[in-house]
Amino acid sequence: MKIIIHRGSHEIGGTCIQLCTSTTTILLDLGLPLSPESRELNIGALKPNAVIISHPHQDHFGLIDKLPPKVPVYIGELGKSLIDVTRVILGNALHNNNFRHFKSWQPFSVGDFTITPYLMDHSAVDAYGFLIEAEGKKIYYSGDFRAHGRKHKLFDNMVKIPPKEIDLLFMEGTMLQRSNDKFPSEKAVEEKIFETIQKQKNITFLISSSQNIDRIASAYRACKRTGKILVIDIYTAWILEKVRRVSDKVPGMEREEVRVYADFSLDNKLKENPEYFGDFRSRIYKHRIQWKELIASPSNYLYFGRMSSFRKIRALRGAEPVNVIYSQWDGYLKGSNKDYFGAEQMAAIQNDPQINFVYAHTSGHATVKDLQKFAAALNPNMLVPVHTEYGQEYSQLFKNAKILNDGIVLEL
Ligand SMILES: [Zn+2]
Repeated sequence: MKIIIHRGSHEIGGTCIQLCTSTTTILLDLGLPLSPESRELNIGALKPNAVIISHPHQDHFGLIDKLPPKVPVYIGELGKSLIDVTRVILGNALHNNNFRHFKSWQPFSVGDFTITPYLMDHSAVDAYGFLIEAEGKKIYYSGDFRAHGRKHKLFDNMVKIPPKEIDLLFMEGTMLQRSNDKFPSEKAVEEKIFETIQKQKNITFLISSSQNIDRIASAYRACKRTGKILVIDIYTAWILEKVRRVSDKVPGMEREEVRVYADFSLDNKLKENPEYFGDFRSRIYKHRIQWKELIASPSNYLYFGRMSSFRKIRALRGAEPVNVIYSQWDGYLKGSNKDYFGAEQMAAIQNDPQINFVYAHTSGHATVKDLQKFAAALNPNMLVPVHTEYGQEYSQLFKNAKILNDGIVLEL
């Protein structure tokens, strides 16, 4: 088997790994690079028989629109539907790829390859690692994963009963040189939210991603414990609708402790796409909250927002400080509005005397200790770093590490 990492051997984002037998070529992920120095990739020349997407984060699927539309793109069904949600909300056309769906732990075939998806704990839902078998070889691709989210049991089970006799493990290493000590788990984040809203005298905003379902669950649980109301916007409410089709444990707008704030622009998206949203718009009405209700008793609410919520935050400043719980990677705060709308305003809010700025975030990626547990359990003959900026450190941290460079062919 021939193996080429096209991108990802020395960077986070843009992951793309090619595996070829004599008759079949597959790509593992086809991500949008996050770094401008990233290597050029001529997707047209790769001619894959299929592309396998680990999870619905841009840096893993973001270039699938460059594929010929006939090429099968395998992805979890929920993951695909969450990609669609963002496209519709942003006013972009849906992808016209040839999508196919797999189910966790159910092997499927692409030519010579047999691929078994393993559901993983990550900050994106519907995230998978893959066991890939062909020509008598076994490869495991970890995708992005962690051991400290709400689905940590998936990691625990994997370490307890790992796939055996792995020839090659591609393992992510986002957290090398990054610490998760302040908030080692999703539970620790929930505690900080709880503590903050319990004593609030004005509203609290939680700044995070609407696709981080674990985080929404933490916000919801903190509200339930304190008798507060969780306010979500239309985008978040619709994402929860999608996720609830798979798991009814996830809170949705029907819950007593949840209300939907209908921004004009998002409400317009519902009006513009009646076929896509079905009866969702009419169902929201029962669960809506008005601006006047928010300002009448702001300390009753936790608003699940994002960077672009800065206008609402400013509008609710008063005699008592507004709490802003910043609950995503702090690197975004150093970016410009071009990369992430609202980043500059949010960075300025940190120094606003009428705002109590709190940081509470746990990573979507495994710590070095958990990576070591994972690598030891799978015990591969060869461990190749991907999705990391510090691949050269793998040799000190893990057994059998082999550092590849982008574009180099490895014969297995
Ligand atoms: Zn990811």
